[in-house]
Amino acid sequence: MTENTRPLEGKVALVTGASSGIGEATAVALAEAGAAVAIGARRRDRLDALATRLRDGGARVLQLDLDVTDEAQCTAAVARTREELGGLDVLVNNAGVMLLGVITGADPEDWRRMIDTNVMGVMYMTHAAIEGMVAQGSGDIVNMSSVAGRQARVGAGVYNASKWAVNAFSESLRQEVTERGVRIGLVEPGAVATELTDHITQADAKAGAQKMYTEMVPLQADDIARAVLYLVTQPPHVAVNEVLVRPTAQQR
Ligand code: NDP
Repeated sequence: MTENTRPLEGKVALVTGASSGIGEATAVALAEAGAAVAIGARRRDRLDALATRLRDGGARVLQLDLDVTDEAQCTAAVARTREELGGLDVLVNNAGVMLLGVITGADPEDWRRMIDTNVMGVMYMTHAAIEGMVAQGSGDIVNMSSVAGRQARVGAGVYNASKWAVNAFSESLRQEVTERGVRIGLVEPGAVATELTDHITQADAKAGAQKMYTEMVPLQADDIARAVLYLVTQPPHVAVNEVLVRPTAQQR
């Protein structure tokens, strides 16, 4: 049997947080699998570079100025994707921030950023996309959760809460739409070498997180992109609901 190397030929995907890390690697993997790809994030220069790379590889690409904390921008991103790329088959809700730190004495602005991005962002994007997917009777929404959505720790409370929310929202939506042909999947990475820890504002938390990432061989963004690809390339009757991927050396 010959392997189909472009299983997403004719499909359209939208990836949030595509300007770096897991989102960037996922956009590349989806494009290499044949999908037309809409790439959204706030840093336009990074999206420009990625768009050039994807187009050089022969993909159809749409760049989206997208801040997922803004509902109107999320609605517009989905609408433009449908109009300019001709549909929407795969939505990867990947944009996220991990502003680790203890709760006592924390700056609630960190909490607002995490909830607005990791939770409301996923909800706004999903709200914009789901009716069309239900109407077409197919589609994949893949939400980027985390080991932190299953394992609470000191110093990660609000990040934990944000990913717990993603898991609960995803499972509820899965039950709502799965019989209508729409698959809702969760990918839950352990430590992945990306820019995620660069944005932590509490100095001790930042040092602690960066130390943890250097004490083991972490995952690479590509390792998670492969998990996303696995979910969205299953036959229509197979729904991989949840994939937890840790570095082999990560105990918890
Ligand atoms: P990066 O920091 O490399 O990527 C985060 C991406 O999210 C960037 O593209 C960033 O783009 C985007 N983003 C952040 N805020 C917004 C916003 N308001 N609107 C739109 N885009 C936004 O980190 P990762 O690749 O590691 O993170 C991707 C996801 O993976 C996150 O949801 C994270 O929680 C999750 N994850 C990561 C793990 C890890 O160890 N790295 C482990 C478990 C889960 P820009 O700033 O240009 O807007």
